[in-house]
Amino acid sequence: MKKSFTYFYALLAILSILILGCSTQKEDKACCAAHSEFEYVAESFSDLKILRYTVPGFEQLDLGKKELLYYLGQAALAGRDIIWDQNYRYNLTVRHTLEAIINNYNGDKESDDWNHFMVYTKRIWFSSGIHHHYSKDKIMPEFSNDYFNSLLEAIDQDLLPKDKAELKALFSGTIFKDGVDMKSVDQRAGIDNILASCNNYYGPNITQADAEAYYKNLKGDKPSFRPISYGLNSQVVKDENGKVFEKKWHVGGMYSAAIEKIVFWLEKAINVTENTQQKVTLEKLVEYYKTGDLRTFDVYSMEWVKDTASRIDVVNGFIEVYGDALGYKGAYESVVSFKDMEASKRIAAIADQAQWFEDNSPIMDMHKKKEVKGISAKVITVFMEGGDACPSTPIGINLPNANWIRKEHGSKSVNLGNIVHAYEEASKGGGFLDEFCYDKAEIDRAKNFAGPADLLHTDMHEVIGHASGAIEEGVGTPKETLKQYSSTIEEGRADLVALYYLMDQKLVDMGLMPSLESGKAAYDDYIRNGMMTQLVRLKLGEHIEEAHMRNRAWISHWVFEQGKDQNIIEKLSKEGKTYFVVRDYDKLRNLFGALLKEVQRIKSKGDYQAAKELVENYGVVPDQAIHAEVLERYKQLGIAPYSGFIQPRTEVLKDQDKLIDVKLYWDETFEEQMLRYGRDFSYLPINN
Ligand SMILES: [Zn+2]
Repeated sequence: MKKSFTYFYALLAILSILILGCSTQKEDKACCAAHSEFEYVAESFSDLKILRYTVPGFEQLDLGKKELLYYLGQAALAGRDIIWDQNYRYNLTVRHTLEAIINNYNGDKESDDWNHFMVYTKRIWFSSGIHHHYSKDKIMPEFSNDYFNSLLEAIDQDLLPKDKAELKALFSGTIFKDGVDMKSVDQRAGIDNILASCNNYYGPNITQADAEAYYKNLKGDKPSFRPISYGLNSQVVKDENGKVFEKKWHVGGMYSAAIEKIVFWLEKAINVTENTQQKVTLEKLVEYYKTGDLRTFDVYSMEWVKDTASRIDVVNGFIEVYGDALGYKGAYESVVSFKDMEASKRIAAIADQAQWFEDNSPIMDMHKKKEVKGISAKVITVFMEGGDACPSTPIGINLPNANWIRKEHGSKSVNLGNIVHAYEEASKGGGFLDEFCYDKAEIDRAKNFAGPADLLHTDMHEVIGHASGAIEEGVGTPKETLKQYSSTIEEGRADLVALYYLMDQKLVDMGLMPSLESGKAAYDDYIRNGMMTQLVRLKLGEHIEEAHMRNRAWISHWVFEQGKDQNIIEKLSKEGKTYFVVRDYDKLRNLFGALLKEVQRIKSKGDYQAAKELVENYGVVPDQAIHAEVLERYKQLGIAPYSGFIQPRTEVLKDQDKLIDVKLYWDETFEEQMLRYGRDFSYLPINN
């Protein structure tokens, strides 16, 4: 599973509550001093902002670790073509065509048409295909089909991936044509989601019924105790006789040319691993890539979970299944990282005190855990990402996805510290605080304290929030008792644990925050977000569906209402703009505590009715006037809602054949990086 920093996070800038992890403040400062001129924001176009991230601590790693990171980074990029082809069957043809034009066109590059052509191409690069990375809608070009044909005419046939006439037909029949292949994933209820989704996980003539029958047959009738991840690494197709079968992704199978390169770099990495566990883990990954055997993938996942001592870690494979309407197919992705030792200590400090937090919680004694263990999590520094993880990246990852492995062997939860740090740096400015904070005191508090306070909130949410509380004996799991409300209740409960302690002197005494001003900044932020700013993610008239958004709404609205008589949170209007201002932080803390007690009771007793009333009354339907106002105020600010990254460029220094150093450079534009990747990591044919 992944957490992403999409619409909401980008817009909420430094104030986002769910921001995860960060490099330590110490290291950040060192990094900022070293790169005082570091430009986090590279450029902005359409609805996208292109950022850069630093890699603090890389210079200090020993050569062996740098070498390992380099090989894993090359492996990450080697699979790049796969995600393009997975997203849509013509994506590689489209990309090669656009890049051939950019590399070879000698005509007017100052015209509006050319600018539109470049913006289109950059959007395609960003989304690894012609469908928007977030909305999954086809991106429509803002230049004409005729203009495109004129560009094509100006390019030598040898430089193009296909015959010109064929390319013209393809572009006019699909790329430019309204109504054709409009969505890469279509999850709407009541339709054939596989036919309606034009991604390449299923052949064009495969129906949802075909796919479902195929997997039902494969799985058999009895539920398996430890099921393999059926369908994770294959495309489902139908032959001319109507027989449905899988084309598996492995060496010798579909995508072989790219997978062979991944394996090539992984094998180099295996020679320079830090320890035996890491070596065994990577060897299993290679074995899986060579065989395509999903049982081997499970073995690999178990070894990967065990590998906690290594400084360097890597995710590489067919991982997240969000891109498949049926949730079988894994998108190729890779995240190469090393552990941020300082920031991980902060999380360990909270985990060490987990029992204290439980004992001092406002929940009923009967709902407290006698023995509570903080959930272990770590903060990582990203070195390189590949496939579905870039240019748009997650900010938190929790793997493996197989439920039985999570249950029996555990999982690894990581926060991508330097990515979050880059988001924060990039979002300073932009006018968000000026727009939504009521007065200068609130703005100053946010600027000085909100960033670190949000990190602390997230750490506590993850480490002690989810770990806290006990279910009464004889009561089923929340999934069984609270049903569709279980996730939002659980997320809200974890938030409330964090909120309650953010105004506790204990955190100051532990050295985790400088003063209670941090807690106040976090409260301002939470209320502003839950009452107003998170609504920017929704279109007017839409209801709140997502679990975290719901919980932020029901917590904020509940405490607002409960505190009305005492004016704990005041609703104010200034020059026609609405503000929610916290007037009494201690009393607000007590309200958070009271709600935590109630929500824990709901979970512990499995009180479905109470969960339903809380969520439906406070967390689902936005206030229409406020919603319209928020949308308008954001529009005026003009902040691009989605962000992604240019990655550092790596260079190796060699003495004869021996690698003697790895250097990182931030000297490429987005266009240059995308063209270089297109040149250096194109391993697949245009049709797979
Ligand atoms: Zn959570």
